[in-house]
Amino acid sequence: MSQPLRLIETSSPLPAHADAVVIGGGIIGVFTAYYLARRGLSVAVVEKGRIGAEQSSRNWGWCRQQNRDARELPMATRSLELWQQFAADTGEDTGFRRCGLLYLSNDEDEIARWARWRDFARTAGVTTHMLSGREATERGRATGRAWKGGVFSPSDGTADPAMAAPSVAAALMKLGGTVQQNCAARGIEVEGGRVSGVVTEAGTIKTRIAVYAGGAWASSFCRQLDIRFPQATVRQSIVRVSAVAEHLPDALHTARVSVTRRSDGSYSLAISGRGRVDPTAQLLRFAPQFLPMFAKRWRNVFPGGLEGIRGGHETLARWQLDAPTPMERVRILDPRPDAAAVKQTYDRAVELLPALGQAGIANAWAGFVDSTPDGVPAIGEVPEIPGFILAAGFSGHGFGIAPGAGHLIADLVTGEEPIFDPAPYNPARFKRSAWGQVADF
Ligand SMILES: Cc1cc2nc3c(=O)[nH]c(=O)nc-3n(C[C@H](O)[C@H](O)[C@H](O)COP(=O)(O)OP(=O)(O)OC[C@H]3O[C@@H](n4cnc5c(N)ncnc54)[C@H](O)[C@@H]3O)c2cc1C
Repeated sequence: MSQPLRLIETSSPLPAHADAVVIGGGIIGVFTAYYLARRGLSVAVVEKGRIGAEQSSRNWGWCRQQNRDARELPMATRSLELWQQFAADTGEDTGFRRCGLLYLSNDEDEIARWARWRDFARTAGVTTHMLSGREATERGRATGRAWKGGVFSPSDGTADPAMAAPSVAAALMKLGGTVQQNCAARGIEVEGGRVSGVVTEAGTIKTRIAVYAGGAWASSFCRQLDIRFPQATVRQSIVRVSAVAEHLPDALHTARVSVTRRSDGSYSLAISGRGRVDPTAQLLRFAPQFLPMFAKRWRNVFPGGLEGIRGGHETLARWQLDAPTPMERVRILDPRPDAAAVKQTYDRAVELLPALGQAGIANAWAGFVDSTPDGVPAIGEVPEIPGFILAAGFSGHGFGIAPGAGHLIADLVTGEEPIFDPAPYNPARFKRSAWGQVADF
């Protein structure tokens, strides 16, 4: 594991009973547990590896409304408020700042797309500023070049992927929630047609509510329960360079490369959408549903290698509850970064912002982005197993919208008025049709 991550200690014994068990200690799992605990429920989080060690610490940290699909915009907007509220309520630092996001372009079509999104966003009460050529060039002066146009979204921001999930887990523990690390959930117990317990490698926790927030492992876990959840992963790589003396934009996107300032002053560099698809049995199983998405992104998605099989998260195997599972074999999905992408990303970033060249590459890592066929997450109770709530498939944007997703799940569990309409996320849509509209990224 080469990405920075705050390590937290969690030493409480496995509880025999909990009002709710959250499986998976990524950003979705810990925010869900936090909002449940705030409502007075006893909550246990079980994480097979370390809190935040998979996608949730490997991302850029962008928390954005900008260019969001209409189905996700309400969740994005509420999440930005909740990131701020979380810090005020708990004193825990996730590194969240409304620093604004800057998009620069010399491509008229891209600029026109952003303008269309601005018009749509206005109808949802979201402010974003289109930049003229002069304004874009001025805001992007660190690049030392002229731009035809751009966007600045002042109410968006970033949080720190190294700090966010562990900080939320720490806040949960202060509220009395328990967190087990190195503890895989192997399956679910069902009695009288609904969830009655979560079976872990360390014993069983009796509960009527199991929230599965297992990221890239979701489809193979669901398969054990005879739930069909179409999911595919793409391996994306990130480069980190140390702090430099010059003042660079906090969060800058261009079509060739994107640059994000981290809390410690270092920078994450990445090429938006670029990734490798590592063939697995699961990928073949769901390939027909994912063809429209891959067709839309073919310019940036390349064939991969054995990293998917090595990870084991996309196995079609069935496992037993009384023996080690693939999740205990691979505690943390830590795929190799794509060497070609690392070089290209660094070269492009230095070409865009020469100051970054002073620092050299500090480290690089990769993460498996887990997607649904329509690019919108699955959040909700699975009708086949009352009490089993799925929260996965965040399709490359789950970090920024995690507080809203966690709040929504707590609303659904406790029967309160949902913070926003849950209908677009209903997992049942994959039964009806897998060919829904593919979200824009
Ligand atoms: C390179 C990259 C860049 C990205 N950039 C952004 C961005 O800028 N903004 C944004 O909003 N999103 C971004 N994303 C997406 C975002 O990181 C994810 O959508 C989000 O982190 C998903 O969170 P999660 O909790 O669902 O999954 P994860 O963080 O993957 O966590 C799932 C956890 O569940 C655990 N688990 C699984 N099965 C079990 C089990 N049976 N028992 C116990 N534990 C289990 C795993 O060990 C893991 O820790 C990016 C992703 C990547 C990889």
